Amino acid sequence: MIDTHCHLTFPDFEGRVPEELAEAARHGVAGCITISTTPMNALECLRLASTYPNVWSSAGIHPLYAAEGPFDLTPLRHCIAQDRCVAWGELGLDNHYSDPPRSLQEPVLLQQLAMIREIDKAGKAGANKPIVVHCREAFDDLIPILQASGISGERFVFHCFTAGPKEARQVLDFGAMISYTGVATYNNAREVMEAAALTPADRIMVETDAPYLSPQPVRGQRPCRPWMVSLTAKLVAEARGEAYEDFESMTDANAERFFGIEIPKNA
Ligand SMILES: [Zn+2]
Repeated sequence: MIDTHCHLTFPDFEGRVPEELAEAARHGVAGCITISTTPMNALECLRLASTYPNVWSSAGIHPLYAAEGPFDLTPLRHCIAQDRCVAWGELGLDNHYSDPPRSLQEPVLLQQLAMIREIDKAGKAGANKPIVVHCREAFDDLIPILQASGISGERFVFHCFTAGPKEARQVLDFGAMISYTGVATYNNAREVMEAAALTPADRIMVETDAPYLSPQPVRGQRPCRPWMVSLTAKLVAEARGEAYEDFESMTDANAERFFGIEIPKNA
């Protein structure tokens, strides 16, 4: 399996990326997608993806970084045109925090969606790449915006899903994939595991969101590390009544199809 969403450029992993990849491999985690939070960060993510054959990157602006704008999107355009950069994002809305306010988050989201549409329509390099969505307590606000963009729901993954079955159905009806982190393993977040249990086999992925959100039984450890996606996968497979090996090949197939990558089979 791979960790479909982590932040290897964050200070927790500075100078430690080879070690993290080696430790991941020891746990059967064959690689990672390192996710961008700002235009400058997208370039750093791409640098890692260009250095390590089992690291891929994304290009986008996280809603909680919206106050650092206004942004020049040129680095994002540069990154998405490269093969190693496999997705847009993470982009979206976060209502859990009131800072930055919605009035700053939303224009940054709309600016990115407009750019994606423009690149798709022009058929430029990077057209039609998938999109990693950050949605925290914002389903009713965000899904209509994504729908209005005209981009097909199938191109989105709602990453670090932390809501319940009702919101999962909203996302699935929209057509998107759902990706689960260690939060699904927490005893005080049972509704997240319920959502994971009802997510169709071809619509589910797993991730760490490292350095945050270490899963059970290592909850609270900082940093969360990419190898720990195997712990989340084990507990989600259990909740779904599936053998680990079956869950692993299913989520691998989903990640390969969705991100257009090939997962090395040696790990
Ligand atoms: Zn993230």
